[in-house]
Amino acid sequence: AKEDGRGRYRVFEDGMNARIQARRSLEMDLRRAIARQEFTLHYQPQVDARTGAYDGAEALIRWHHPERGVVSPVDFIPLAEETGLIGPLGEWVLRTACTDALTWPAHLTVAVNLSPVQFRDARLATTIRGILAETGLPGSRLEVEITEGSLLQDEQRTLAILRELRTLGIRISMDDFGTGYSSLSYLRRFPFDKIKIDQSFVRQTPEDKDSAAIVRAIAMLGTSLGLKTTAEGVETQAQSEFITDEGCDQLQGYLISRPVPLEAITALFASSPLA
Ligand code: C2E
Ligand code: CA
Ligand code: CA
Ligand code: CA
Repeated sequence: AKEDGRGRYRVFEDGMNARIQARRSLEMDLRRAIARQEFTLHYQPQVDARTGAYDGAEALIRWHHPERGVVSPVDFIPLAEETGLIGPLGEWVLRTACTDALTWPAHLTVAVNLSPVQFRDARLATTIRGILAETGLPGSRLEVEITEGSLLQDEQRTLAILRELRTLGIRISMDDFGTGYSSLSYLRRFPFDKIKIDQSFVRQTPEDKDSAAIVRAIAMLGTSLGLKTTAEGVETQAQSEFITDEGCDQLQGYLISRPVPLEAITALFASSPLA
C-alpha cells in the first residue's frame, strides 16, 4: 500500500510539474504574441429579436499561435489576467474593435468584453475616452460587457469608471446574467443598460421548464427595469421563437452566425437590407 502511495504521489508531482511548465511556456508565448500580432478579433452579430435586423456585433478575441494553432480565450484570458498582460491586450482589443466598427454602417454598435482586472485600473475610463478620440468612434456605438467579477472589485472605483463611461455615451451590459451569486443586487447598485442572459439557460429552452421559466423571468425583469435583454447562445429556431415570444430584445448565437473575421462581418452587414 505504501509503495502504491509513493507511486501515485510521483505521478501527481510529475503531472503538476508538466502543468507548471506548460503554463510557463504559454506565458512566454503570450508575452511575445502581442508584439508579433498573433491576435485577431472575430465578430458575432447581435440582431433585433422582433425584426431580425442587425444591431451590431460582439468582438471575441482569437490567438493564432504559430505552433498550437488557434488557442481559445478561455485558455489564455485567465493567464493574461494573472500576469498583468490583460492591460495591454485589453487596450489592443478596444482600439481594434473601435477601428473596425468604423467600417460598418453608422447605426451598428460594437460590444467589447472587459476583464475584472481591467477595473483595478482607475484610469480605465480615461483610457477608453482616449481610444474613442483617437479612432473617432462615437461613444454611442460602443458597448462594454462586464461580468460579476468586475463588480466584486472596489465598488467606488468600479462605479466611478462605469459612470464616466456612460457620460461618454457608452452602454454597459451585464454578461452571463444569472450565473453569479447576487446579480440582482448588482442591477440596483450599478448603472446597466443591458442584461445578457447566460447561454446555459438559453440552451435548455424551451424543453426544460425551469430554464424556460428563468429566461421568462429575466426578460420580464429587464422590461420592468427598463433594461434591454439579449439572449446569447441561441442555436435553434425553437429557442429563437420562444425567447422572442418572452419579450427578449436581442438575439445572438450560432443560429444567426458564428463569430467570424472582420471581412465576413463587414460583408454580412453590407448585405443587410436595412444597412
Ligand atoms: P462570452 O463573453 O460569454 O462570449 C460568448 C461565448 O459563447 C463566445 O466564446 C462565443 O463564441 C460563444 N458562442 C456564441 N454563440 C454561441 C452558440 O450559439 N453556441 C455556443 N455553444 N457558443 C456560442 P469564445 O469566443 O470562445 O469566448 C469565450 C469567453 O472568452 C467569452 O465569453 C469571454 O468571457 C472571453 N473573451 C473573449 N474575447 C474576450 C476579450 O476580448 N476580452 C476579454 N476580457 N474576454 C474575452
Ligand atoms: Ca460577452
Ligand atoms: Ca456571455
Ligand atoms: Ca461566458
